[in-house]
Amino acid sequence: MVDLIKKRLREHTVNYIGNIVTAGQELVSPEHEKARRDICKGCDLLEMVTLPPVPWIGPIQVPGCGGCKCPIKTKPKAVKYRNFKDGKPLEIKTNICPHPDGNKWEDVDNKYFSSKNPK
Ligand code: SF4
Repeated sequence: MVDLIKKRLREHTVNYIGNIVTAGQELVSPEHEKARRDICKGCDLLEMVTLPPVPWIGPIQVPGCGGCKCPIKTKPKAVKYRNFKDGKPLEIKTNICPHPDGNKWEDVDNKYFSSKNPK
């Protein structure tokens, strides 16, 4: 029973953090998000990343990007994001794939952004 409660708390916490991270941001379309996430699911940098500690349930690990340590649940959603360091907000950055071999989202982003803003 305790394990089930902890499991549910983890799920709700992951969703809660995801909603906070993406609140007020310009988001890509659901199709665009899925296309980006599908690339991440096949990426060699996909790994388990640790979310900021939550006192009552401890560290939570979720699938994430090994390049930027962002959860794959939220990483593909945003067009831009606010960068934080030591809890302080820094500049707003464009959300790109940080793969060292190059931006793996480039073709998908070009496709969906150009269909959103046709010339
Ligand atoms: S490096 Fe790019 S494709 Fe790989 S997990 Fe990170 S964002 Fe996704």
